[in-house]
Amino acid sequence: MKLQRNASLQTFNSFGFECTADEFVIVRDVKELEEALDTTEPITILGEGTNVVLKPRIRGRVIKNAMYGISVTETPSDGVLVSVTAGVNWHELVRYALGRGIGGLENLALIPGSVGAAPFQNIGAYGVELDQVCEDIEVFDREQHCLRTLPASACGFTYRNSIFKSVSRDRFVICGVTLRLGNRDLSTHYRDVAAAVSTRSRSSLTPTYIAESVIRIRRRKLPDPRLVGNVGSFFKNPILCDSAFDALRERIDIDGHPDSSGVKVPAARLIDEAGWKGIQYEGAEVWPRQPLVLVNRGEATARSVLELASRIADDIHRRFAVELELEPDVIGSF
Ligand SMILES: Cc1cc2nc3c(=O)[nH]c(=O)nc-3n(C[C@H](O)[C@H](O)[C@H](O)COP(=O)(O)OP(=O)(O)OC[C@H]3O[C@@H](n4cnc5c(N)ncnc54)[C@H](O)[C@@H]3O)c2cc1C
Repeated sequence: MKLQRNASLQTFNSFGFECTADEFVIVRDVKELEEALDTTEPITILGEGTNVVLKPRIRGRVIKNAMYGISVTETPSDGVLVSVTAGVNWHELVRYALGRGIGGLENLALIPGSVGAAPFQNIGAYGVELDQVCEDIEVFDREQHCLRTLPASACGFTYRNSIFKSVSRDRFVICGVTLRLGNRDLSTHYRDVAAAVSTRSRSSLTPTYIAESVIRIRRRKLPDPRLVGNVGSFFKNPILCDSAFDALRERIDIDGHPDSSGVKVPAARLIDEAGWKGIQYEGAEVWPRQPLVLVNRGEATARSVLELASRIADDIHRRFAVELELEPDVIGSF
């Protein structure tokens, strides 16, 4: 295990923020992970850093999970089980599955980041969420000091949330994910996807065609983090109770989508209506083609991005009485 002290994490987060960790170690298997966890220092787990806002200093040990491996473990009659370790890049997994004619991940194409982080916020896009294809998660349990397999039903998956992000935060390190793929109908109900496939007959649609459409939509709307620092959506879409949704509809003409705990409304529509598209603040900017995304124009810092986010959230609350919640994890201290 190679431990770096006072390590710069600037190249390990997609905002490109300068951040120094007391200690930094990259782990490639469970043995190295166990070794890295054997410390009294506070621990932070990092994947590819595409959903974190790193403040300038992280106390303790940052462990970057780089465990690598994909295999088709079983082909039961009801789909294909694919097991993937945490360090695999998510889009590489999508391409691996599509390349073998296995559907199920096409709507989740081109989401940046690692497989290990996908359960953390139950990644989702274009009408599909990880929990719809997740069979189980292999974790290292820091309380019991052993590897365990948690069935998806025990992971508390909801919209952009899980036990890993909430009640069991810091207890589990995700080491691998098993997905059940190839057993679902294609999902084309999401508006942008429906429009992209509207000229094709249903029978001629393939998972690869959907993935290519999703990739085109994403490239059009979202900044490429390799070129413009960002972490994707900065806010979650708020979920309102029926009466709050009715009250909101009196202020703005907005669509809502039923969710298990209420009505989900597009935060981008609220931010756009409030006039924030393209607004810049100390090097940070509200992305003009998708106002849920805040970008680093080169000079932004964790402080300026968080201040911009807080101004937007305050404004949305004042105008629409809706609370916006941050989607990325804010880590470290000023
Ligand atoms: C351009 C862009 C578009 C995006 N689009 C989407 C989208 O459509 N849908 C979506 O859901 N997300 C989206 N995201 C957010 C991001 O891609 C996902 O959240 C992704 O899963 C983050 O992966 P990561 O490896 O970079 O995680 P990191 O940013 O490194 O970590 C995120 C969190 O997960 C925790 N974590 C990471 N790995 C592990 C592990 N092995 N065990 C336990 N905890 C862990 C970290 O501690 C941290 O709190 C987008 C981001 C960008 C930049």
